[in-house]
Amino acid sequence: MNNRAVPGEGLAVIEEYDARGDVYVLDGEIYSTKVANIRINRKDRSLTSIGLKKPFPKPDDEIVGTIDQVQKPFVYIRINQLDGRNVGVKQTAVLYMKGSVRDAPAGREGDIIRAKVKLIRNAMLFVRIDEPELGVIFTSCSKCGGEVVPTGRSFVKCTRCGHRDYRKLAMDYKSGAK
Ligand SMILES: [Zn+2]
Repeated sequence: MNNRAVPGEGLAVIEEYDARGDVYVLDGEIYSTKVANIRINRKDRSLTSIGLKKPFPKPDDEIVGTIDQVQKPFVYIRINQLDGRNVGVKQTAVLYMKGSVRDAPAGREGDIIRAKVKLIRNAMLFVRIDEPELGVIFTSCSKCGGEVVPTGRSFVKCTRCGHRDYRKLAMDYKSGAK
């Protein structure tokens, strides 16, 4: 039997094993309630399902998040997605912006940004945006909140008030795409 279980996959019948852990029994068959590792003990004829912990980000994983706070030179990002999957846990990533263009933050509060995990230190997650496809994927005018359009590679211009502002835009940025 496979040692890895996914929910809804029949593992065994209750005549074979005493089911323990993250399991449920339906019509005499044992199912795991979570993505889990399965441990079989033949001595006491038990099957134990041990649910896997939430995956923790590792270097080069891609995240998508909302900029929570900008405190130069740091940008704090609330992670919404890790490698394309929505994450249920509240986790913050930190983007260090010193030495970037004009020393300006990559975006402003409320922007949606795509980044990659750079390193993890003391449970702090640091991210980077130094690739063309990384950067702001949704933003609005920092003066009036109006819709903006990109002008050049690193600037946006408000269609309402004309304010021009720096952003590190992702290559596939398009205004209004959220
Ligand atoms: Zn504006």
